[in-house]
Amino acid sequence: MVKAFEYSKSLNMEEQQEPKPERERGWCRECGHAEPSHESAAPGELICPACGGEMKSLNNLTKSERSALDFQEWMDAVHKADKWGPSPGGAASDLRCDRSMIDKLADRGILEKSVYDRDGHHVVLISDRSIARAKENKKKRGKWTDSGDE
Ligand SMILES: [Zn+2]
Repeated sequence: MVKAFEYSKSLNMEEQQEPKPERERGWCRECGHAEPSHESAAPGELICPACGGEMKSLNNLTKSERSALDFQEWMDAVHKADKWGPSPGGAASDLRCDRSMIDKLADRGILEKSVYDRDGHHVVLISDRSIARAKENKKKRGKWTDSGDE
């Protein structure tokens, strides 16, 4: 009985110490990802949780590593927002319409457009879900939009 009590007491103590320090993020050159250090890495050590390799401190990146990281974070954000999809050219061939129609539909908010324009990179993505909606409209009404003439 006493033993069980002692045991649960030590468990509780461990739980109280639990609030973990925020793990510093590093950049893994092998994986091309920025991640918080592996949970069993020593404090101050940056170990990639995916491959176990040593990661570089984010404060210590070269210009091109920083630019790659920025782009990757943007792609992650687009993906998380559920706005991932093809380029406008890809969207045009998917919808079998003109590239100019893609721009028009994006301007009108029918197609969701995400733009990355930094460090000399210019990337535009049209979300899969908005392409699916446009296709659905076309099937139902013969038009890309849910109202109007196009
Ligand atoms: Zn890695």
